[in-house]
Amino acid sequence: MSWYRGLAIGFALGVALGFSACAPLPSQPGNSGGPTQTTSYAQSDSQSSNESSAKVPDLPLQSSSGAKGSLDPHKLTAGDVLSSEQIARGGGEEALFYNEPISDEVFLRMRGLSFGEDCTVPREDLRYVRVLHVDADGVTHVGELVVNRLVADEVTEIFRELYDAKYPIRKMRLVDDYGADDAASCSDDNTSAFNFRTIAGTSMLSNHAWGLAIDINTFENPYYIVSTGHLWPPEAERYLDRSVDDPYVLHVGDACYDAFVSRGWTWGGDWPDTRDYQHFEKPWVLE
Ligand SMILES: [Zn+2]
Repeated sequence: MSWYRGLAIGFALGVALGFSACAPLPSQPGNSGGPTQTTSYAQSDSQSSNESSAKVPDLPLQSSSGAKGSLDPHKLTAGDVLSSEQIARGGGEEALFYNEPISDEVFLRMRGLSFGEDCTVPREDLRYVRVLHVDADGVTHVGELVVNRLVADEVTEIFRELYDAKYPIRKMRLVDDYGADDAASCSDDNTSAFNFRTIAGTSMLSNHAWGLAIDINTFENPYYIVSTGHLWPPEAERYLDRSVDDPYVLHVGDACYDAFVSRGWTWGGDWPDTRDYQHFEKPWVLE
């Protein structure tokens, strides 16, 4: 199809020029080159940005004793470690995987950072995704992402699948916790998605700017340009050997790869020159 060829040509041009989908940027993007409106979005399930998710039970706050009583999933913070008993008090695993419109509380974290003043993607087109994830030691953590609403249910489903498979993810916090600095987030091995920014060295928006790209375990799955030798994080050199024995290294055919690719996402590790091992994207849903 012509749109796909256009994307392929654009991608080939990007690769030829050494552009990066994930590489760190010095600053937030300007307006040049970015779209000025989002009429290509379907609006059928548009919701108020302040609307609460219907998928999450309105549980009372955790009791002061901390030992009994219910635990409100909305009161959890990404990075929190949960025991099986706490998960049960939160309504069970099912209640801890959900997505919802960007609340005022979350928007305050994003505004001026991942959602910069020049952000052309409407807040209403983004969703906050709350999940559980397991690290390589088998410890369960609370995770969070912001993605485009067009993929929010799918992304929630993917991370439920990875949790059930005990696929290890080290941490999942909004890039805003790193000042929306992609380099800092990558160096800290943080899994994240939305960040309104351009592709490095260009004025073209990254698919992360649409909330349609996700970076997984970013230290063990670095970004590398074969032709120039550019590597980020720079300390991740040992992970250029993709056969290295490490649970966070992505492999073709593993649970993470399959969860994304089976749903039509593209993996950056397959790209010919820009090896973006951490990166999955699905921009096709805008067509
Ligand atoms: Zn990426």
